Amino acid sequence: MSKNNNPDITAFFSTLDRRFFLEEDKELAVLDSALPIGYGQTISQPSLVLYMTQLLEPNTRLKTLEIGTGSGYQTAFLAEFSKEVYTMERIVPLMELAKKRLHELGYSNVHFIEGDGSSGLPEKAPFDRIMVTAAASKIPDELLEQLAPEGIMVIPVGDAFAQELLQVRKDKDGNITVNAIEAVRFVPLVGKYEI
Ligand code: SAH
Repeated sequence: MSKNNNPDITAFFSTLDRRFFLEEDKELAVLDSALPIGYGQTISQPSLVLYMTQLLEPNTRLKTLEIGTGSGYQTAFLAEFSKEVYTMERIVPLMELAKKRLHELGYSNVHFIEGDGSSGLPEKAPFDRIMVTAAASKIPDELLEQLAPEGIMVIPVGDAFAQELLQVRKDKDGNITVNAIEAVRFVPLVGKYEI
């Protein structure tokens, strides 16, 4: 677990029912594994979503960008622990379902953006936090640029077989440090940085 483990995030995790983010096979939601959500995509493993949220060190004063809304499960954590969230998804029906779910949960601080998030969202940059939930061949230059000073990005990087979860920090002078966390397996970030 992250050395900056936030107990509020862990408490939120235990109250958020993953069944709510699935249309089918809801009985599988209790398993700590990724599950299909249609269109060849998956909802992430709950323990990994918790871990990635901890690694992002979110807080309610900050603005977050998420690439890969999927079911909206990770988005709910970001909505709870950010001031504002911009979340991008290329598969419109998935985005519509996620939007409906987050609305039902009562979040009004999430902006849903349809399209390829490989190049981020320059018109709303900089972002204090960036969460990428699909695997990239490298850290996208555009996302590094759009990360605010003292910002943190969490992103899986690698190839189709082996990926590593990276925690990327930008200091106040713009210097970047990359912390390799653990081996993971995500669906590809489609587009310019596709694995
Ligand atoms: N955190 C999500 C996991 C989603 S899987 C959840 O727990 O449900 C990754 C998502 O990234 C998929 O929905 C996929 O369609 C989306 N995706 C892949 N490449 C993308 C891109 N270039 N831009 C935006 N979304 C992308």
